[in-house]
Amino acid sequence: MPKGLTAATGMDALTHAIEGYITKGHCAISDMFHLEAIRLIAKNLRGAVQNTPEGREGMALGQYIAGMGFSNVGLGIVHSMAHGLSALYDTPHGVACAILLPVGLEYNKPVAGKRYRAVGKAMEVPGIDAMTDEEAADATIAAVKKLSADVGIPANLKGILKEEDIEFLSESAYADACRPGNPRDTSVEEIIELYRSQID
Ligand SMILES: [Zn+2]
Repeated sequence: MPKGLTAATGMDALTHAIEGYITKGHCAISDMFHLEAIRLIAKNLRGAVQNTPEGREGMALGQYIAGMGFSNVGLGIVHSMAHGLSALYDTPHGVACAILLPVGLEYNKPVAGKRYRAVGKAMEVPGIDAMTDEEAADATIAAVKKLSADVGIPANLKGILKEEDIEFLSESAYADACRPGNPRDTSVEEIIELYRSQID
């Protein structure tokens, strides 16, 4: 796979693992898969994008383990919001997920933020053990953004999302099969605000 496709599919796999870890239906067994997938992806995605054999092998395993986790418990609004972007604009699924992952993590923080520490630990965020829950959650979101930027994913939806499509996209995201699994109960109005935050 070329670099761009490796980065996009790799960030999709990370989104599967992180959304699967915080989804409403998560359980001890899916947590085990997701944390190991997060560890492998955080460790190997940069190398895979540089086409190292170790990076490629780590990602092959990481994405597979993530699939074993989330296919049992579901995902959340990052995927719900990403699906419409790909349908409407042909945005690669992994690019849409990668841009929206930190948005979903910020939104879900009040409900699921305590679980972000384990995600950050799996990503080997330095000094996370000494942090408060709030600090650990923020450091974890920052690590996700850094990984995404390092593999060349855009920081927001500017140039992709059109204002006039936001209402339709938000209704579609709310109706999406992944939305009920989101840890924080949401609404069309709140999803509209999340999309809008990415082009303002
Ligand atoms: Zn996906």
